[in-house]
Amino acid sequence: ATPAATMVGTSIGARNGVLFKGGDILERVKDTDAVVFDKTGTLTKGEMTLTDVVALDDTGARADGGDAAADGGTVAAKDEASFDEDEVLRLAASAESASSHPLADAIVDGARDRGLDVADPEDFENVAGKGVRATVDGQDVLVGNTTLLREHDVDPTPGDDAREGLEADGKTAMLVAVDGRLVGVLADADTVKDSSKAAVAALHDRGLDVHMITGDNERTARAVADDLGIDPGNVRAGVLPEDKADAVDAIQDDGTRAMMVGDGVNDAPALATAFVGVAIGSGTDVAIEAADVTLMRDDPMDVLKAIRVSEGSLAKIK
Ligand code: ADP
Ligand code: MG
Repeated sequence: ATPAATMVGTSIGARNGVLFKGGDILERVKDTDAVVFDKTGTLTKGEMTLTDVVALDDTGARADGGDAAADGGTVAAKDEASFDEDEVLRLAASAESASSHPLADAIVDGARDRGLDVADPEDFENVAGKGVRATVDGQDVLVGNTTLLREHDVDPTPGDDAREGLEADGKTAMLVAVDGRLVGVLADADTVKDSSKAAVAALHDRGLDVHMITGDNERTARAVADDLGIDPGNVRAGVLPEDKADAVDAIQDDGTRAMMVGDGVNDAPALATAFVGVAIGSGTDVAIEAADVTLMRDDPMDVLKAIRVSEGSLAKIK
């Protein structure tokens, strides 16, 4: 393109909240074959809310006398070691109060909203991509995924029915263990952004493949993808932060030119690896630094605008 065309494109982009890091990028964006979205904070709002608290007894049945979760409808007697919902939540929230993870914040807020007394843990350890371990009131508390529990020799399977049901609803389920025994399951839910579904449909209409990458579990990821119209075969779940760039590489393996769209520190290597890296909205400085394009708004639809500016079809300012 001529320098003049580049200037026009750059300025149309800027007026539409799409910032290109130079003329080469402006040219390149239109050659994208596939768009790879990070899930949390990119397709979803990234604002978690605590939605469910399930107390389990030794058999995996719900200890609150509600629906039995695992034993075909029989409500098992509540033994003296059982924790009720409030105690499950209080211990989990106290453990999580030392973490700054969005999942942790939602648990702490949820506990405070229910009037529970959230205490500082006596001891705390963050296990990245898996959960937390802490000592609360002299008890050893784990909050996290099945991998975390197994690593601490706690059997997560009595929680399977409860966990799988929550995950099928697209929620992130977290297991709570106290002194080596599973005592409950919590769930946090995130909300899909208003325009995510329309953005996926519009990209499909243009003949682009749409993928999603997330650290979240497979079942939750599939539920969200299903909601948005993303092919289940294009979902990569349980991806550890350090493996996101490899996941983009795998998509680009056959020559596919992928645009990676993400918001987090975790996403920076993947943004750098992709044919085009796009940082979205309230993205972290690290993501913006690594990106080729920055979308100033938090709107996945602006991915389409970036492509249209690049091909010169967004000539008018709306
Ligand atoms: P994301 O890609 O969504 O940012 P992470 O890599 O931070 O996810 O975490 C992956 C998974 O590890 C979460 O879905 C959750 O199951 C578990 N996890 C991580 N941090 C915590 C925490 N503070 N409390 C409970 N579970 C956690
Ligand atoms: Mg994210």
